[in-house]
Amino acid sequence: MAKLHILTDSDPQLRKTSRPVENITERTKILIDDMVETMRKAEGVGLAAPQVGILRRIVVVETTPGEVYELINPEIIASSGEQTGPEGCLSLPGKRGVVTRPSYVKVRALDRNGVQHEYEGTELLARCFCHELDHLDGILYVDKASKMLNPED
Ligand code: ZN
Repeated sequence: MAKLHILTDSDPQLRKTSRPVENITERTKILIDDMVETMRKAEGVGLAAPQVGILRRIVVVETTPGEVYELINPEIIASSGEQTGPEGCLSLPGKRGVVTRPSYVKVRALDRNGVQHEYEGTELLARCFCHELDHLDGILYVDKASKMLNPED
């Protein structure tokens, strides 16, 4: 596995729309493994492929250590409720902002074997699913933040 370079700040790649994965290949699986390693080394709870310069609809999430979600072509198919809280992003180091998200989402995605699954998330997991899926459409949390926080807050 290899650690990938995470794009930051005003890198234009972060603002592009990622394309669906049409064929899951050995390269896709290596990319997913590398994304998981990169997320962990950066002490993040989620990472989207465009953050490492790959404009494909792939996301990894690990809000509970050891419980990794590998999402290929993910879509939110249901959501409800509301939660408002602080959010950060590995691509915007040193920043945090307050974002309102659904308190529950259901995500449909393919796994690395091409099998479709539906995953439910509440609280932090729901927030993380929403945040990472936004990256696939070039959306950053700062676009949705009601206010930004000072680093010491
Ligand atoms: Zn992010």
